Amino acid sequence: MHERANRPGPWQTALVSNVIDETYRAKTLTLELPAWRPFIAGQHFDVRLTAPDGFQAQRSYSIASPPERTGAIDITVELIPEGEVSPFFHEIVRPGDRLEVRGPIGGPFTWNSNMGGPLLLLAAGSGIVPIMSILRHRAIAARRVRATLLYSSRSMHDVIYRAELDDMDASDPNAAIWHTLTRSPPDGWKGYSRRIDETMLEEVTRDLDDRGWTYVCGPASFVELTANILVDAGRRPESIRTERFGPTGR
Ligand SMILES: Cc1cc2nc3c(=O)[nH]c(=O)nc-3n(C[C@H](O)[C@H](O)[C@H](O)COP(=O)(O)OP(=O)(O)OC[C@H]3O[C@@H](n4cnc5c(N)ncnc54)[C@H](O)[C@@H]3O)c2cc1C
Repeated sequence: MHERANRPGPWQTALVSNVIDETYRAKTLTLELPAWRPFIAGQHFDVRLTAPDGFQAQRSYSIASPPERTGAIDITVELIPEGEVSPFFHEIVRPGDRLEVRGPIGGPFTWNSNMGGPLLLLAAGSGIVPIMSILRHRAIAARRVRATLLYSSRSMHDVIYRAELDDMDASDPNAAIWHTLTRSPPDGWKGYSRRIDETMLEEVTRDLDDRGWTYVCGPASFVELTANILVDAGRRPESIRTERFGPTGR
């Protein structure tokens, strides 16, 4: 499965059919794909930009939408102000534009409802994107599978998909959503306000059977730290799947 899933397929020209603001620095783009192919939650696409002088830049973006949706995918891009590519999605791209993409790509960082659970999902920043595809797939295909998400953001204004996550937490008895806000928690905030640590993980997983799967996604430093805590706490390394975003993740 992984070998086939890792073949990115040919480049194709996607139509940007919708762009929405998720937060002040994260936008979701809907890409209509003329050669849509089935994918597994957790996979990503490559996007290639070509400047008028022929210079090309290529970056990876995880699929946010669930595999049940055919013909189009959503990607969510966080703005890195000094970045080469992400500002293009924030300042230039409009509905009706076309983008060169290829995918789906990615093997181990995937979850299919047949794999069962329970699921422990740990995300920081835009690391929530592939995890959202997993949560959306689970909500459609496997609501009986328990899922616990611990999502680290700088502040409430940085929480991507906030309304959908709140709704999931309130309406789905098998889903538990926890937030930690590392820089500026709002007045009266009763949740966590520090980086993920052993005590926090112990608290959020207290009622969760540890024989399931763990997915960790975010900046490389977050992923290293969190995966080490999990292993030290006795989680089986083979049950932990990681995806690193950012420069050292390539
Ligand atoms: C498999 C995979 C999936 C990804 N999925 C997503 C996704 O769903 N959404 C998303 O927004 N990004 C995602 N990324 C990151 C994305 O590919 C780019 O790295 C990111 O958009 C920055 O590109 P840039 O050209 O704007 O910045 P660059 O020009 O590459 O970098 C500019 C500066 O920002 C720093 N930097 C680069 N990336 C990050 C980062 N992620 N966080 C903090 N600092 C950074 C660099 O060190 C550099 O100093 C994914 C990466 C991988 C490997």
